[in-house]
Amino acid sequence: MSNQEILNFTDKMLQPNIFPRIEEYVEKRTTSGPLIVELDPTSACNFQCPECISADLLNKGGIKDERLMELIGEFHEAGVKGIIFIGGGEPLAHKLMPDPIVKAHNLGMSIGLTTNGSLLNRYLEEIANCVQWTRVSVDAGTPEIFSKIRPSHIPNAFSKVTSNIEALAKIKKGILGYSFLLIERHDPNGQIVTNVQELFCAARLAKNLGCDYFEFKPAVDMHHNLIPLSNNLKQEIIRQKPLLEALKTDKFEVVSPKSIDYLLTNSSSNQPKTYQTCPSLELRTVVTSTGIYPCPYKRGYENQKVGGIDVNFNDYWKSDERQNNTKSVNPSKSCLFYCIRHEQNLLLHLLANGQEEGINLLPYMIQTPQTDDVFI
Ligand code: SF4
Repeated sequence: MSNQEILNFTDKMLQPNIFPRIEEYVEKRTTSGPLIVELDPTSACNFQCPECISADLLNKGGIKDERLMELIGEFHEAGVKGIIFIGGGEPLAHKLMPDPIVKAHNLGMSIGLTTNGSLLNRYLEEIANCVQWTRVSVDAGTPEIFSKIRPSHIPNAFSKVTSNIEALAKIKKGILGYSFLLIERHDPNGQIVTNVQELFCAARLAKNLGCDYFEFKPAVDMHHNLIPLSNNLKQEIIRQKPLLEALKTDKFEVVSPKSIDYLLTNSSSNQPKTYQTCPSLELRTVVTSTGIYPCPYKRGYENQKVGGIDVNFNDYWKSDERQNNTKSVNPSKSCLFYCIRHEQNLLLHLLANGQEEGINLLPYMIQTPQTDDVFI
């Protein structure tokens, strides 16, 4: 398991178990269903992280119990291969947990889970048995920094989260990651609050707890723009990179998204797009209690909503309304920030444009071996 395997979404699209859906998109510019659904079961959260990109969306209710269970079945009917339980909110705070996870697993879908880790102990066994990957947002390596970066009313929260990670590591069947968002902010007194100095300390802790990987990544603002790294931050990352490298073994990986390199080498965090439709929206979608959104970057914006959750998901996906709403999202106008799907979009446009001009590039795509990793 390497950076390449975990985060190279473009290569993952070429897996033989994924490729038929890519072919479907290239031939029809639409799909019979998304491969991946990001599902926010609830907007409730027991933390109050100042850097939370979903702060405006929190604690406004969740998907009703019965509807949540129905949706899982409808995703399966629509050909969804993987569900990521995530938020807007802490997914494990939904009172029906772990039933939606178990149901999705029993239907044969792969499960990803992004969590703050504080409630893992409630459903340890089910998560260990049903979830392909769990990523715990910790953003710290000590209780002192944790209390500043991820404040909550939970007593000994850092100890609770790290104990939960350790307990899951002992019995999990899937992959377990420790996530670290690089944060630098000024407190009301003008003092800098940052976690960057403990990047290595957190990575070493992740390894000792039994995680499979440690991921560090840049913070984004409420509008999903990458927050540029200050010179201090850049220097600190560069200083600690060799230490992080030294932690790697065949059982433990240190990964970082391309956005880090982008920020280290570009003065601006903008990423202009020249294409007018977003093919990724045919492969992934975001379902929340307030509606369906095209992608996580548009989550919660009323004017970006592409559908409601009260209609059958399978019918919704195939409807003209959904297809028209999806096609109306114009990345050259509304996605000028760094987007994790950009490279996938470039490839999909290349394939689709070739097909339009009578050049079928699909047979020339060298398919990567089957890894059963549906999380493109
Ligand atoms: S290009 Fe725009 S619409 Fe497409 S995934 Fe990125 S942010 Fe979302």
